[in-house]
Amino acid sequence: MSGLDTQLYLLTHAHTDHLTGLDNASTNIHIICSEVTKRLVLNYEREKDRIAFDKGTIERRKQAYEGLNARVAQFHQTTVSTGEKRKEDRLLTRDPFHVIPFDKPEPFEVGYDPVTGRKKWVVITMLDANHCPGSAMFLLTDPDKDLTVLHTGDTRLDRPFLDRLERRPALMPYLARFMGMDILQQDTRVDKKESGAAGQGGTFKNKILERIYLDTSAV
Ligand SMILES: [Zn+2]
Repeated sequence: MSGLDTQLYLLTHAHTDHLTGLDNASTNIHIICSEVTKRLVLNYEREKDRIAFDKGTIERRKQAYEGLNARVAQFHQTTVSTGEKRKEDRLLTRDPFHVIPFDKPEPFEVGYDPVTGRKKWVVITMLDANHCPGSAMFLLTDPDKDLTVLHTGDTRLDRPFLDRLERRPALMPYLARFMGMDILQQDTRVDKKESGAAGQGGTFKNKILERIYLDTSAV
């Protein structure tokens, strides 16, 4: 997902056919995923490297995505103290992964509207995908346009999972089964005056799910 200033990568799960391009990714990216997916990606070793280590050809284990580990980065920043502007360097830890919890709407700033100059936001709710440990789907809402899409990777849509899925507060407003009912759900509006934290609670009528993006070969 490409914004004016920020690029967000939605990482649904840690199977290799969904990790294409991550090893060449710029360090200045934001990868949104679950805690389990992050750990699986950072610990992933390619088969040839595992074999080479076992044979003693290489001295240490080689993680395929070690370039994505959190690292200390240098930032230039301008500070104002006692009326005087000073430029200074700061060292901060930069972690490209943004681990978010399941079922909780999280707002992300994605740039500025070129016309109004106002900040642009997207609210992302991560949902279980019932595929492999840590696997997820992402419900994306543009709070300004009240536009929502569902992005999925691989999912296993068995009956017990579907029964659980339709009880997810974030999805209920989009389901025909609840048509015409008022539903208590988590608020996906963004409070732009604060740090961007989404509020909780509120009663909403049914909403339209604009589109479902399937990035999957196994459903
Ligand atoms: Zn998969």
